[in-house]
Amino acid sequence: DRIVTSGFTETDIDIERSLRPQRLEDYIGQDRVKRQMAIFIQAAQKRNEPLDHVLLYGPPGLGKTTLANIIAQEMGTNIKTTSGPAIEKPGDLAAILTSLKEGDVLFIDEIHRLQRSVEEVLYPAMEDFVLDIIIGKGPSAKSIRLDLPKFTLVGATTRAGLLTAPLRDRFGVVQRLELYNQVELATIISRSAEILSVNLDEKGAEELSVRSRGTPRIANRLLKRVRDFAEIEGKGVIDLETARTALELFEVDAKGLDEIDRIMLTTIVEKFDGGPVGIDTLAAAIGEERNTIEEVYEPYLIQLGYLARTPRGRVITSGGYRHLGLEPAVLQEQ
Ligand code: ADP
Repeated sequence: DRIVTSGFTETDIDIERSLRPQRLEDYIGQDRVKRQMAIFIQAAQKRNEPLDHVLLYGPPGLGKTTLANIIAQEMGTNIKTTSGPAIEKPGDLAAILTSLKEGDVLFIDEIHRLQRSVEEVLYPAMEDFVLDIIIGKGPSAKSIRLDLPKFTLVGATTRAGLLTAPLRDRFGVVQRLELYNQVELATIISRSAEILSVNLDEKGAEELSVRSRGTPRIANRLLKRVRDFAEIEGKGVIDLETARTALELFEVDAKGLDEIDRIMLTTIVEKFDGGPVGIDTLAAAIGEERNTIEEVYEPYLIQLGYLARTPRGRVITSGGYRHLGLEPAVLQEQ
């Protein structure tokens, strides 16, 4: 496993549950999203209506599931959680929808992976809170319409562009989550350390935060692994030195890049003269999926300013050259 993967791994299960903030005020960062959601939630409560359907999008591990749970908590309702690939047939979705109660939140993770036939059941459910069921086959088939309780759909996806237009249009609220800055990550790490009773000092938190790729899930995972190291080989406290030694051992570099990031950057330098190189060509050259590059690797490299997206493809920046220990003087004319 890549220690800096932003995807969910088996070892994350227990810690994610205990570290998940429960209220909006404990949700660190994402200030614009938080301010807007607080208003929408209060307004819905004042009108005594369910909240509009909400679409959350952004790279993995940024807090979409967490925010969906917080929305339900703040609305004082229950949440039902499922995912696009888990709903195989229209009947599966019908069963979920009819089990909802007035005001409930239905959270569908990876909503872009819903089957087309399932998605079509969702349209009238989202728009008019009804379910159209076809009974029988052929000329004698009849359609009956069932009323559903008014619910709030919260959908999560890595990129809004992956959704079909009719589905996207049915969300009243669309929120994009951003990578977290270093200060926010340090706050998340310190909060987690307190919950897990880990002895962590300020410099230690800072060191972990700059290597967390802007992603709370990675921040929490690094904390957990460095805690193991500190207990076994260190002084039991995570300070700057312990954090550095442990992260070097785990091959997470000073900026949180790992081997795949470095391969991607060096490939652009060595095989494509620093770019521009088209995303599909790059994907083929390093043997990774285009989507994974766009959703997982690239956003962080762009945030760091090591990589730039241009109309003609990806280009390595002078910062990227320097990180690889190369002279930006070889920078091609772009
Ligand atoms: P996503 O659904 O976007 O993949 P999650 O909601 O599962 O991400 O978040 C991963 C972990 O990161 C959560 O368990 C939670 O502990 C932590 N986390 C995410 N966002 C925040 C935040 N804003 N503040 C504090 N912790 C967060």
